Amino acid sequence: MKLLENWNNVLNLIEKEVTAVSFDLWIKTLKPLAVKDDEIIIYAPSVMAKNQCEKNFINLIRFGLDSTFKDEYKGFKIITGEEEKNKFLKEELVGELPEENKKTTNNYRTNLNPKYTFNNFVVGKSNQIVYAACKNVADHPSCRFNPLFVYGGVGLGKTHLLHAIGNQIIKDDPQMKVLYVTCEQFTNDYIDAIRSNFKDNAISVFRDKYRNVDVLLVDDIQFISKKIETQENFFHTFNDLYQQNKQIVIASDRPPKEIETLSDRLESRLSSGLIQDIGSPDFETRVAILIKKAQIENYNVQSEVIDYLAENYDSNVRELEGCLSQVVFYANLMGHHFADINDAKEALKNVKKDEKAQVTMDKIINVCCEYYNVNKQDLVGKKKNKEIVDPRQIAMYLITEILDAPLVSIGRVFGNRDHTTVMHARDKVARLVQDNIKLKNEIVELKEKIKSSQNKK
Ligand code: ADP
Ligand code: MG
Repeated sequence: MKLLENWNNVLNLIEKEVTAVSFDLWIKTLKPLAVKDDEIIIYAPSVMAKNQCEKNFINLIRFGLDSTFKDEYKGFKIITGEEEKNKFLKEELVGELPEENKKTTNNYRTNLNPKYTFNNFVVGKSNQIVYAACKNVADHPSCRFNPLFVYGGVGLGKTHLLHAIGNQIIKDDPQMKVLYVTCEQFTNDYIDAIRSNFKDNAISVFRDKYRNVDVLLVDDIQFISKKIETQENFFHTFNDLYQQNKQIVIASDRPPKEIETLSDRLESRLSSGLIQDIGSPDFETRVAILIKKAQIENYNVQSEVIDYLAENYDSNVRELEGCLSQVVFYANLMGHHFADINDAKEALKNVKKDEKAQVTMDKIINVCCEYYNVNKQDLVGKKKNKEIVDPRQIAMYLITEILDAPLVSIGRVFGNRDHTTVMHARDKVARLVQDNIKLKNEIVELKEKIKSSQNKK
């Protein structure tokens, strides 16, 4: 039986039947391990992955195996844990497990953190374009997007993407010289070089370091804002690399034109390629990020915990991940094998929830009722007159805009309406807002009111 050789076929069959997120998070992580007494042994990288697969995908896995191996096997089981794995590996090896992190032969100092890869970056609505741009640069450095300038708020994955680009490039071609630096490191290196007063060739060491690379990744460039001399030097470094057709990728918390006191010519250099922003992840992406994190770290958490965190902490992935580890840490302290919702609440009782989370559907509905002078029963009820329908649709629109709650649950609040009704309202108002100034202003005012209602009980 050719278990390893045909494993991709099994995956392909399953892939057609599940969502991309489930496939990525669970199915793809399974590895065929051995065949023992005609039973196929499949390895899952965590208890959580094993449980998920057994609970949700067992029939699909069986279907994939049946279609691929027909009568060649009798059954299968999913195992997890190093100990189990080793037991079976000794039994009957069916091939080498795919090597995941090939060592590079490059001993050049890259400053890259191998932990950040494209593989463990979760792609959703808020970051799919920036992801595609970064992936393109990693696939074809110095081709289309040069420089690539990525900007966005704290903890949204900019640093992760910069490292992912570098890691992929040296994996694909170990001879490539990739250098990741923060703006601060660049500045310090530069200052050191100058302070050394040309001793020991400090300046040429600095030059060599920065100008002999194939790919330069500069993080947090916004810190360059007040450092005129560093700007000047960066400008030259940039030009040098650019003229040699080397790839430059820059990350910042704001777009070039908003970096104060950036010299015009540096701004125009930074803006000369592709500028792409990265937004806060939506609910589904937050869930996927947490699940992935739990998998990587081998955390045992119940899915309610994941939902709870994704609902309450929504603006910053770093914080979201921090909360998850706090919950797991707490659960471990308490001797709980699986972190549950009570662990989460207890562990995080002193952590402030994101402000946005304090806005609820109810508050948005109340604000709309007050603003349009409609009573709440009517707003969420069945009446079809325009005076009610318009505010109702606006309320639905605002809810989808402000809270990325699932459409189904919004429909439920509005008298058990179908999610397609919510979708229709959302799209209609979004369309109208574009060229209806009056409506546009109403929406702005409503959003203001919702924002200030946030702190009231
Ligand atoms: P930034 O540089 O934008 O402040 P980071 O790249 O440091 O943010 O991201 C903060 C943390 O969140 C990191 O641990 C990173 O791996 C994680 N992270 C952010 N976005 C994602 C994502 N889309 N998928 C997986 N992990 C993410
Ligand atoms: Mg960063």
